[in-house]
Amino acid sequence: MEKSHTVQKDFVVNIEYILRLDNGKLVEQSEDGKPLAYLHGHGTIIPGLEEALTGKLTGETCTVTLPPEKAYGERLEDAVEWLPRAIFPPHVALESGTALQIEDGEGGIMTMYIHEVEKNRVLVDHNHPLAGETLNFSVKVVGVRPAKPEELAHGHVHDQDGEHHHTA
Ligand code: ZN
Repeated sequence: MEKSHTVQKDFVVNIEYILRLDNGKLVEQSEDGKPLAYLHGHGTIIPGLEEALTGKLTGETCTVTLPPEKAYGERLEDAVEWLPRAIFPPHVALESGTALQIEDGEGGIMTMYIHEVEKNRVLVDHNHPLAGETLNFSVKVVGVRPAKPEELAHGHVHDQDGEHHHTA
């Protein structure tokens, strides 16, 4: 029988989760039989959720409610604006609902969400789609194991067989 660990920093944690908004709308959930694996204590999941999972054991469940200030912030109405179509590179597909990452001119990357596309202008929203929303997570811990040295060095989880894909 393997020693059971509590969820703690530098451990790989597997969780099954469901995320809903206050109105009950399903935002996302882990796939059946495919829990999310993440490296605890490295900021790879939303901080309020990470905090709530600390100290949990395999098999434990919890519900976590994160108000906007602990999730994606309040919605800023002036963060919605029309931009000229011409400023977008021609090869970028502009479709309503898609996220676009562009350089902000100061070496950073800015994410905006396309709302509407017209011939000469594009309505973009700089708010995260979940800004202003309260997030309700139902989570079950399905596995906890110490991270391997390579995983700690990389800051992310590798597959059981040691394979990994750096797609991010
Ligand atoms: Zn890696």
